[in-house]
Amino acid sequence: MAQLCRTSHLCRQLLSRSTLARPTGARTVGTTDKWEKDGNISRECWLKAGEQGLLGTDTPAEAGGIGGDFKDAAIIMEEQSYVNCSGPGFALHSQIVMPYITHYGSQEQIDKYIPDMTAGIKIGAIAMTEPGAGSDLQGVRTSAQKDGDDWILNGSKTFITNGYMSDVVLVVAVTNPKAKTRAHGISLFLVDEGMPGFRKGRKLEKMGLKAQDTAELFFEDVRLPASALLGKENHGFYYLMNELPQERLLIGIMSCANCEWQLEETRQYLRSRKAFGNTLSNLQTIQHKLAEMKTEICISRAFTDQCIDLHNMGKLDGSMASMCKYWMSDMQNRIGSQCVQLHGGWGYMWEYPICKSYVDAKVQSIYGGSNEIMKELIARQIVGDERV
Ligand SMILES: Cc1cc2nc3c(=O)[nH]c(=O)nc-3n(C[C@H](O)[C@H](O)[C@H](O)COP(=O)(O)OP(=O)(O)OC[C@H]3O[C@@H](n4cnc5c(N)ncnc54)[C@H](O)[C@@H]3O)c2cc1C
Repeated sequence: MAQLCRTSHLCRQLLSRSTLARPTGARTVGTTDKWEKDGNISRECWLKAGEQGLLGTDTPAEAGGIGGDFKDAAIIMEEQSYVNCSGPGFALHSQIVMPYITHYGSQEQIDKYIPDMTAGIKIGAIAMTEPGAGSDLQGVRTSAQKDGDDWILNGSKTFITNGYMSDVVLVVAVTNPKAKTRAHGISLFLVDEGMPGFRKGRKLEKMGLKAQDTAELFFEDVRLPASALLGKENHGFYYLMNELPQERLLIGIMSCANCEWQLEETRQYLRSRKAFGNTLSNLQTIQHKLAEMKTEICISRAFTDQCIDLHNMGKLDGSMASMCKYWMSDMQNRIGSQCVQLHGGWGYMWEYPICKSYVDAKVQSIYGGSNEIMKELIARQIVGDERV
């Protein structure tokens, strides 16, 4: 992360290439611009992140991780958000994919993947979503059929973060189409890059998260050995339900931290931008807007920290994780929109970091389970449990 912070700091210090004067705060051409153009970050960045202990931070040391706790991992996510650096899909790799392997994987699978994932040598992705199944995971059609001891995997996935660069993909597939419900017939498989029949499609062109690779994946008669099955056959849906709350919490944590960054970025801009013979930060209406945003963020910070503490103790329930994801990601969109407004026309320009932050924010309320689905889950607990 130190590397990322330095990159961001240097970017701010360099002069704009343009000949026209800009208000302070414009970003300049740097590493992230190349990543945005490429549609993914470099392998080198993954390896450097590994060297600096930024991957697998909360993965147990005996499994090949760094051995920290969830708070250590949260610090890394927050620092990444504080430099508005949305490209690296480190949290998905470390706090979404790796836990599946350490929680449900065999020793052989742990040894095969975890040390290399901690080092940034192997990049992980998780493939649930399909063109016809997103919110409703029980609608997945990708299937794995037994053939002797092996499995034959067929299907396709879309919107897969780290998908293009991935070395290992955790794939959700139907293994028992005749199960009493779809949820009882789903399993998870670890699929390696380069397996015959496994093809990566194009990197998808997105509204935001331009430096993060999001890809389509295709599986055509991919022969998987029995050792590729993660955990028990037909237990995949149960594993997903166990792990998805952490995924939602991560989104909440990064959204909350990015709001703090958005406010600070805007505060600095307003303190330097002159209009009507004054700085904008001296106008009372603008001060009130800043006060409103700061209050909202501070209250949200208290809830986020409470969720982090509870999760670190293993006591966060799924409903609170959903609340955190829904509230913080919606707030990131609200605060982002207001901060762009406060930057005026410059806020609409890509060269100002607030613009990137605003477009990056949009997906936070969509992926990881959309916010509509979060409300479903929260409501289910309210009406289904007397002890709310
Ligand atoms: C940039 C990006 C990265 C992603 N990364 C990954 C990844 O790494 N791995 C992966 O598996 N997936 C990934 N996804 C997919 C993401 O999780 C899904 O897009 C998301 O779950 C929504 O599914 P959908 O797009 O099929 O929308 P749909 O399910 O079709 O939903 C469309 C709309 O209907 C609403 N809706 C659906 N059901 C209900 C309901 N019951 N009640 C009320 N409203 C409802 C939704 O909230 C949404 O607003 C990514 C998506 C994006 C955009």
